[in-house]
Amino acid sequence: MKPDNFQSPDYYNLDELLTDEHKMVRDATREWVKKDVSPIIEEAAQKAEFPESIIKGLADIGGFGPTIPQEYGGAGLDQISYGLMMQGIERGDSGVRSTTSVQSSLVMFPIHEFGNEDQRKKYLPKLASGEMMGCFGLTEPDHGSNPSGMLTHYEDKGDHYLLNGAKMWISNAPFADIAVVWAKNENGRINGLIVERGMEGFSTPETHNKWSLRASATGELIFHDVKVPKENLLPGKDGLGAPLTCLDSARYGIAWGAMGAAMDCYDTALRYAKEREQFGKPIAGFQLQQKKLAEMITEITKAQLLTFRLGQLKNEGKASAAQISMAKRNNVDMAKTIASEARQMLGGMGITGEYSIMRHMMNLESVITYEGTHDIHLLITGNDITGISAFK
Ligand SMILES: Cc1cc2nc3c(=O)[nH]c(=O)nc-3n(C[C@H](O)[C@H](O)[C@H](O)COP(=O)(O)OP(=O)(O)OC[C@H]3O[C@@H](n4cnc5c(N)ncnc54)[C@H](O)[C@@H]3O)c2cc1C
Repeated sequence: MKPDNFQSPDYYNLDELLTDEHKMVRDATREWVKKDVSPIIEEAAQKAEFPESIIKGLADIGGFGPTIPQEYGGAGLDQISYGLMMQGIERGDSGVRSTTSVQSSLVMFPIHEFGNEDQRKKYLPKLASGEMMGCFGLTEPDHGSNPSGMLTHYEDKGDHYLLNGAKMWISNAPFADIAVVWAKNENGRINGLIVERGMEGFSTPETHNKWSLRASATGELIFHDVKVPKENLLPGKDGLGAPLTCLDSARYGIAWGAMGAAMDCYDTALRYAKEREQFGKPIAGFQLQQKKLAEMITEITKAQLLTFRLGQLKNEGKASAAQISMAKRNNVDMAKTIASEARQMLGGMGITGEYSIMRHMMNLESVITYEGTHDIHLLITGNDITGISAFK
């Protein structure tokens, strides 16, 4: 793979709106990605291997639990720092950002928000340091966009819960030490349970043959009469709202992250277009190529402004689920279009692993599907503005 010469676009001088802390987090993330991710990520993706070597570095930059308070081992950062970190990480690879998002927004967040003090103290510091890795089990083989229909369930057996069912498409599952699993009780209410690797009847087979997010490990969670200690139930919130609140946090990170992938594709295409000559001049001098580049930077700039404002709202506790939904949908779609256009600009070279674009392009196929598909997010916006649900 080519040396990582990435230069971040900032057409509307957004830097001027960032605090010193934001810039510090952003720069540390960029530096780490250049040093530890860029040199190894292409090979990991080609081999479809999760690069475990990155776990320590991710923990060191505060990538596990950026917004979790420091007393539990988190970085205690604000939402814009969190966003900038996700942007920087996904600039390297969406799979690496997925690992971080799952650990932070889908495992540490619910334990912090819905767990009790014993659970926070037991799990959060180890998750923050990367000593322990987690995954989040909501999707099932027959229930993806409609998780409320889930079949995974548990029964109260007096001194423990008995868990049965299966989850599918679970990021980090093959190596996770714990899983935050959403399951129904005897009354059909959804609750979160912390299931630990090693519990009898719990297995995590890996999902193979993915063309997308190849550097992120995906798997199933199978529960066959798993005895879960009662103290592993998250007591703070029940109902579908509990996992959906976690998804809001993760979707917010994706809205920022997808911009990172888009920026990397744009930056690569811009540099290539200035260097590559055809018909006696750089291809950047042809109007058709300039149109592509001009549209890319316009869309990236719009997405940056959207996301920055969303970060402000989130910091104030005012960002609605529908606002987060709109940003996730817009920015991932924008990144997918930019990746496709940028790939064409590199001609034949665009399909090789010499450049990051094709990897981003394939990764974004997962990002546009998980945490609510592109279509579902449109329906969330439609519901929000009309007051009428078109889901069913
Ligand atoms: C790489 C990867 C990692 C993932 N990681 C996780 C994870 O860590 N944890 C987890 O719980 N899940 C995870 N997922 C699952 C992901 O969230 C689901 O794939 C997603 O929610 C869609 O569900 P589905 O695949 O079953 O598609 P379906 O729900 O079957 O949807 C198929 C199509 O139908 C459309 N559709 C569905 N309902 C409607 C409707 N009412 N109106 C119009 N169109 C509709 C969808 O938009 C989609 O285009 C992951 C998925 C992938 C690919």
